[in-house]
Amino acid sequence: MHNLLQLPRLNGAALGSAYLLAALLPLLLARAQSAAPMDRWEYAAAAMGIIALWGMAVQFVTSGRFEAVSGRLGIDKIMAFHKLAALWLVLALLLHPLAYVLPTSLDDPDLGWIRLQFYLTDPSYRTGVISLGALGVLVATSLLRDRLPWPYEAWRAAHLLLGLSAVLCGLHHAWAVGRFSAEGALAWFWALVALAVLIVVLVLYGWRWWLLHRRPWRLESVTKRADRMWELDIQPGPGTPALTYHAGQFVWMTEGARRFPLFDHPFSIADSPSREGLSLLIKEAGDFTNQIGNLPEGRVIGIDGPYGEFTLEAHPAEALLLIGGGVGIAPIIGILRDMVARRDTRPVRLAYAVGQPQNFACLDELRAATEKLDLQLWLLSEDPPDAPDMMHGRLTHARLTEMMKGLPPDTTKTLICGPGPMVVAVSDMLLETGMPMRNVVYERFDYAGGARSHQDRARTRQMLGIGAMFLLIVTGFALSM
Ligand SMILES: Cc1cc2nc3c(=O)[nH]c(=O)nc-3n(C[C@H](O)[C@H](O)[C@H](O)COP(=O)(O)OP(=O)(O)OC[C@H]3O[C@@H](n4cnc5c(N)ncnc54)[C@H](O)[C@@H]3O)c2cc1C
Repeated sequence: MHNLLQLPRLNGAALGSAYLLAALLPLLLARAQSAAPMDRWEYAAAAMGIIALWGMAVQFVTSGRFEAVSGRLGIDKIMAFHKLAALWLVLALLLHPLAYVLPTSLDDPDLGWIRLQFYLTDPSYRTGVISLGALGVLVATSLLRDRLPWPYEAWRAAHLLLGLSAVLCGLHHAWAVGRFSAEGALAWFWALVALAVLIVVLVLYGWRWWLLHRRPWRLESVTKRADRMWELDIQPGPGTPALTYHAGQFVWMTEGARRFPLFDHPFSIADSPSREGLSLLIKEAGDFTNQIGNLPEGRVIGIDGPYGEFTLEAHPAEALLLIGGGVGIAPIIGILRDMVARRDTRPVRLAYAVGQPQNFACLDELRAATEKLDLQLWLLSEDPPDAPDMMHGRLTHARLTEMMKGLPPDTTKTLICGPGPMVVAVSDMLLETGMPMRNVVYERFDYAGGARSHQDRARTRQMLGIGAMFLLIVTGFALSM
């Protein structure tokens, strides 16, 4: 089902350029439109409103649920972009009315204030104010998500409704009072945008809901693998096609009567595509995962996927450094199981770090894999270990250097999955050992943010470049009119 709305697979730079070029289209349509002459600031205000409206609509496809977009960049990067873009959209929407009143305010501040109050209170501008308010609340509730006393599902529903309100009210505002958008080609363009947003929402919540029911999976078994960690064996139900995926990808999973996309949760596939069905390794972390160990055999499961690019196919390499922290071992076990199944001959070094030795999952299988692959295993526990092949403490610079011995930094890829702080620390240490940034790939299990690696900061700088280009585009529009 992720193949629906499949676009050509593009890299980050191409997607960024496509994003910017697409933003030019409504402005070009506006330029072709005849409108009463305005001050340069007012042209800039109009351009900011147009770009913000277009950008809000695009947020629906950068939400991590379209594999054509997130599959190329990885869920980490696309979510970072989605969050940053939301901030510049709020800024553009705030500046939109302010830039309209700026020329008046410069001549007569009192009159400027009266004009701004008029924009904010007059019924004809109400949908614009609602759009700005909805986007503001959406961004605030996202920034404060971890501190809100809401279940994740309630936050997700609110996020969707606020996003829809922001874009639909924004569209109404453009049609009702827009200087360029009220009629002509741009009005038709906004009609297409409205249709596209509704189709995206229908695909995400209607089509996918239908498929989750039409193609059910079945829980074959639940096995305890470590402290509060379970392995689920899930098989396709009657008439459900097998999933075509690469080891390391993830799926969105729901169960029983809750098979509605709003209730699904992402889990990495801890399995090899050569085996029928799917295995998921799930750690208890909250309402949904706490009851995973009690799910009865035969329970109907909803699977949507595969997603992500945390795979060897997306990151070809001559040698591999795999690093898993806690339940972050799930996709790495999938990759390793697949390497065993394919009799992969490449050198692999695997570091598996946990807090306490009872948190290690699938240890026997990992030890057995050293007999079948060119694999060196590093088991690290922060608490004193309980087996001779385990090490005490965290992954340090010295340990990483030791692991890297004999591996060519240029052609070795590192795949890291684990808690945010560990991912950041390890990825930064790897850069210090001389590994190029392009060879360090990671996936975090939490979108909330927190500590940021050198790589995260480099990405943010590239993404801020897109925001700066928008500023240039708005200035160019205002000056060229
Ligand atoms: C790409 C990816 C792959 C993952 N793979 C695994 C895995 O293989 N094994 C595993 O145990 N965990 C995995 N997780 C984490 C797992 O999705 C969360 O632990 C789980 O959704 C928590 O749900 P809950 O209701 O039990 O806990 P809650 O208390 O509801 O949530 C705890 C935290 O989990 C995150 N979360 C909750 N629901 C969702 C959701 N629907 N979408 C995104 N994030 C959510 C939020 O940050 C939340 O603060 C993965 C996460 C991501 C993003």
